[in-house]
Amino acid sequence: MDYQKLANLMFPNIDKNIEYYEKKYPKRDLPDGAVVSRFAPSPTGFVHMGSLRTAFIAKKISTDTKGVFYLRIDDTDEKRSVKNGIQGIIEDFKNFNFEIDEGRISETEEKGNYGPYLQSKRKEIYQTFAKYLVENNLAYPCFATEDDLVEIRKNQEAKKERLGYYGRYAKSRNLSFSEIEKKIQNNEKFVLRLKSPGDFNKKIVCPDLVKGKIEFPENDLDIVLLKSDGVPTYHFAHLVDDYLMRTTHILRGDEWLSSLPIHIQLFQIFEFPIPKYCHVAPVNKKDGESIRKLSKRKDPEAALSFYHEKGIPVHAVYLYLMTTANSNFEGWLAQNKNLGLEDFKFDFKKMSASGSLFDLDKLLNISKNYISKLSASEVYHNVLNWSDAYDKEFNELLKKYPDYSIKIFNIERKQKKPRKDFSAWSEVKDNMFYMYDELFNYKKIDFGLVNKAEKYKDIINLYIQNYFNINDDKDTWFRKIKELAIEVGYAQEMNLYKENPEKYLGNIADISNILRVSLTSKTTTPDLYEIMKLLGKERIQERFTKICG
Ligand code: GLU
Repeated sequence: MDYQKLANLMFPNIDKNIEYYEKKYPKRDLPDGAVVSRFAPSPTGFVHMGSLRTAFIAKKISTDTKGVFYLRIDDTDEKRSVKNGIQGIIEDFKNFNFEIDEGRISETEEKGNYGPYLQSKRKEIYQTFAKYLVENNLAYPCFATEDDLVEIRKNQEAKKERLGYYGRYAKSRNLSFSEIEKKIQNNEKFVLRLKSPGDFNKKIVCPDLVKGKIEFPENDLDIVLLKSDGVPTYHFAHLVDDYLMRTTHILRGDEWLSSLPIHIQLFQIFEFPIPKYCHVAPVNKKDGESIRKLSKRKDPEAALSFYHEKGIPVHAVYLYLMTTANSNFEGWLAQNKNLGLEDFKFDFKKMSASGSLFDLDKLLNISKNYISKLSASEVYHNVLNWSDAYDKEFNELLKKYPDYSIKIFNIERKQKKPRKDFSAWSEVKDNMFYMYDELFNYKKIDFGLVNKAEKYKDIINLYIQNYFNINDDKDTWFRKIKELAIEVGYAQEMNLYKENPEKYLGNIADISNILRVSLTSKTTTPDLYEIMKLLGKERIQERFTKICG
């Protein structure tokens, strides 16, 4: 058969060749060992936490090696596409300060010289590669209908044979040129199939950066490369795109692992360099006694919007993701307190081949520690940004009292053991509302929360009259609270109380708590002395008086 003629018949409008595209998208001019990696989601409108993790690792290895990381949208599968699905992905990335070197930057725009980065805009490129295969007798049109395929399947099942379109079942392999020509002239639908050179009884060794060398039977299925509308399957698009975009490392979900023999076979057929693969195990979650995939449907923390809404700092999420990605990261961080994520060298050998467990509590704990190391002004700006989107009332107050707010965040901050009272910006208001008169609510004050507080009014009155002086230093302030304790029959020290509880009405902590609850309506707060200093004389007197009045 004249395969050139067949190729022209099948792809009459394709006038370019592979060399044309190879010149258009030349080998990248990058330092030795530079990694070119990418994130290639379908336009589903959101990024799943598990995908962010994979993309984050891919980007990390590209950045570490001065390579390139790009975002490509794989929109060939209509079932996995939603309207404005790219925008949602871009938004999620934006909210996570996740920057790309190249690729789609909006529903309609992109940056970089290796595009289009949207598969639906690459039809002509795929067809050029497909035409090459036909010209070289490596692919052929297949006219099998759905019914034909069902028939084949039934046959195979009856004979207990392997399922699929291969070997003697691949009938369209044997069509003559004139048969094909007639069918095409009759407008019969066809797909393009690979004429697989594989032998199922032979083995192919597929290397994976984490899972190691995995042996598979060679692929002998004549897999579909182009669907009947000319749109490529994932397998074929992966080959063409990752070759022309000069991708060196493919990090993707391990649901693709079983397709690896096909992908390696395709690269071999074209004699293209085979990229390095890393199939990333899914992010799992403990659900009671069992372990299952972190699911967008069941677990709010699977969606990136969850972190944005809660105001969990993005950097803390990245720190957490790295602890799940490389087992030595936490230890490294503990020993290199002054270094950051960018200084850590990611190592595939330190990555678990089985799934990692997603532990939101641990993430929040990392976040708490991270926030505790920020300056008061950094905290202020973060809370300001977060509240601008999610809590306008609080945002107004922060804008109205910037210096005062920074002072609030500075309480117990610049010290060896800084305060750790919030892990997300959404927790700040609940923790510190009492510092703002506009939010303080006398009705919330409940002395039932404090031990031995029955005579709270007497105690507060005594404090205002005899002990309270806003200018006292901390030692004097505390000494006076002790004196007050003695005066009202409470133990001035905890251990005195513990030794002889029956001798006292209560202890020093109860006295402090009566004052604390009066001024804040909370039983736990940062340092009370600092709080009182910031509230100032008038507001303290006003709060005390209102309570006792
Ligand atoms: N579009 C594929 C997916 O969403 C991409 C897999 C890959 O990264 O190659 O799973």
